[in-house]
Amino acid sequence: MKRYDIPLVPGPVRIAPETLAAYGQDWASADLEPEFGELYRATAGQLQAIMGTRNQVAIALGEAMVVLWGTIKSALGPGDRVLAVNSGLYGGGFAEMARIAGAEARTVDFPYDSVPDPDAVAAAARDYRPTLVTMVHCETPCGTLTPVEAVGRRLREVAPDALFVVDAVSSIGGAPLDSDAAGIDFCLLGTQKCLATVPDLGIVAVSERGWEKVERVGYAGYDALAPFRRAPETGYFPYTHSWHAVAALNAACGQLLAEGLDAVYARHARVARGWRAAARELGLTLYPRREEDCSPTVTAINVPEWTDWPALDRRLREWGMAVGGNYGELAGKVFRIGHMGTQATDDLLARGAAALREALDR
Ligand SMILES: *Cc1c(COP(=O)(O)O)cnc(C)c1O
Repeated sequence: MKRYDIPLVPGPVRIAPETLAAYGQDWASADLEPEFGELYRATAGQLQAIMGTRNQVAIALGEAMVVLWGTIKSALGPGDRVLAVNSGLYGGGFAEMARIAGAEARTVDFPYDSVPDPDAVAAAARDYRPTLVTMVHCETPCGTLTPVEAVGRRLREVAPDALFVVDAVSSIGGAPLDSDAAGIDFCLLGTQKCLATVPDLGIVAVSERGWEKVERVGYAGYDALAPFRRAPETGYFPYTHSWHAVAALNAACGQLLAEGLDAVYARHARVARGWRAAARELGLTLYPRREEDCSPTVTAINVPEWTDWPALDRRLREWGMAVGGNYGELAGKVFRIGHMGTQATDDLLARGAAALREALDR
């Protein structure tokens, strides 16, 4: 296996030794031992603090996509109308998923190098009258951080009955988000981005009216959310849970909370500023049009026109640095530095910027 001295892929990120140690124990059966239930409830409590929510948190086995699909299928049925706020690949993807789940869907579109305008979202919601609105907090492929709280406020004015689904997979644990203040009904999170643990779990915080909708829809399947409403009390999970993955998540959340969330956000903001300055100094341009739209967890940079992505990627790997390429219309044009979680450090910034300089040296 190839290991890189300068790991800067925007997920899965490097995993701290303490987290791996928690994973790598010979845990007993999660089905049989009451201690697993205690660990699950304690971890859900840590996640409430990190996600800024009093809503119940479900921790599902899978990966982040398991709660994206699980939420779409559990919260939608025939007759539902979904408005997908689209300023990037993940945002647009929700409309496709909603149609697959049997709902009607429409997007409200914004250029990928910008962030959604809350008034334009409100106008689209007034016009379309959705039963559910989806949005992405950090559009990882674009390197942007979107104004979820402002959009949530506007939605409560114009579409108070619409459920609000937010994918905060690559922001929570690196950028502040007050999920309850934003009025989020389903707040989606993964474990391999800012939380910096194994890519084995999907997390979703569900509001009371969110759970009510889930019970009305009645979706059953491996990714269904419904069983998680009572599982923490009854101990009956819909499948054998991974004690290993939940123990690792508990350790990773413990590290974030011990550092202090304000310190964690300040570290991400400082390192992100450093990366933007380093890119400018090397004559590179950022993909987001405005610097204030850039996410503190990932920096998206235009591939300079005098080279191409495969050549740049090869040169970076020769210098021991792994970064992210891109997808869809951004493939080959924009590359990404993932400075989230354990990768948001001054040391990786210094060594990564030096490697980038060498790789760009013609
Ligand atoms: C990483 C990520 C996901 C999960 O995608 P995977 O490719 O399965 O890791 C979902 N949403 C966003 C915004 C992400 O960054």
